[in-house]
Amino acid sequence: MARRYPVIRTRRYWQGAFFFWTLFIGTLFTLWVLAHMRGATPPVNRPPGVEGFLPISALMSLRLWLSGGGVHPVHPAGLAILLGAILMSAVVARSFCSHVCPVGAVSEWLGRLGRRLMGRTWELPRFLDVILRSVKWLLLAFFVWATWVSMSLTQVRHFLDSPYNRVADVKMLLFFAQPSRVTIAVLGVLVVGSVLVRDFWCRYFCPYGALVGVFGLLAPFKITRNPQTCTSCQLCTKVCPARLPVHRLERVRSLECTGCQDCVAVCPVSHCLRLTAYSRFPLRPAHGVLLAVAVYFVVTVGFRVAGHWRGIVPEEEYARRIPEIHSPLYTHVGGMAPVESEPVPPLKGAH
Ligand code: SF4
Ligand code: SF4
Ligand code: SF4
Repeated sequence: MARRYPVIRTRRYWQGAFFFWTLFIGTLFTLWVLAHMRGATPPVNRPPGVEGFLPISALMSLRLWLSGGGVHPVHPAGLAILLGAILMSAVVARSFCSHVCPVGAVSEWLGRLGRRLMGRTWELPRFLDVILRSVKWLLLAFFVWATWVSMSLTQVRHFLDSPYNRVADVKMLLFFAQPSRVTIAVLGVLVVGSVLVRDFWCRYFCPYGALVGVFGLLAPFKITRNPQTCTSCQLCTKVCPARLPVHRLERVRSLECTGCQDCVAVCPVSHCLRLTAYSRFPLRPAHGVLLAVAVYFVVTVGFRVAGHWRGIVPEEEYARRIPEIHSPLYTHVGGMAPVESEPVPPLKGAH
């Protein structure tokens, strides 16, 4: 399909580029951690982009930042990536999922593998679909409650300063590099599920997608259908990965719409389906992709320029902590102990 439709091709190029970039920085990070575990000098620097995989720490940083506490200097790139994801999704509806997220790319590829192997993917029965779709909302509600409601700002700051948070990226890597049987079983179910059911993880379980979906509701740029020219061929509905009844909607205002524009690409009627701002100002499909990605870059590059990309944890501290990473000090509970060595410098003002 991508070969025939330039907008799908453009979006997939970006998606592929972000995926391979993530793979690249993941490889650098693994080499860096392995060297520290052996007590050797790492051959590479730690890439701050790995902090994109610390959404809970980023949520707490966001709370601190919004409350005027400045950008917390441990894992600032995590906050930059979270803000980039939120803001691009708040401009072009939930576009982080369809343009940038590497996990979403893998999920899409697994679905395509399923269709290639079996000629189709399956949909779950409606009752199961509705029940499972609530899981990601419950998870999001839990994380928001845990980080924004149940903790005071002092506790948030305490967590962000804690030994656990300072090495949370290393813990995250080891979680996947040294998986327990339960982790392997869950990952296996998600991979097989994604081959059999399109967007299995994204549709049912991902709280990050639910979060950016909420901001997607605010987006001025959404899919709009012109009922005067629509022939009701339903091609748009058939390709929609979010399973939305696009052929019946005048404006797609769904939390599930990822702004992928697959529906726009397949519509045989010129300008019947378009990405428009407030139903009035249309964007050419490829420009919609570029706008979404540009917002992401403006935010993340802005953080770099403002000096909020590399965290303040020094290499010597990592060299000391990583060899003892399995100590109880680096569990969630133990990790709430105050930093016993280098204190976090005074926080800068909000930007
Ligand atoms: S739902 Fe989650 S995993 Fe899927 S694309 Fe969106 S953020 Fe990524
Ligand atoms: S693909 Fe276009 S013409 Fe066909 S139903 Fe959808 S909006 Fe209407
Ligand atoms: S409505 Fe269109 S843009 Fe939204 S998810 Fe479905 S195919 Fe993608």
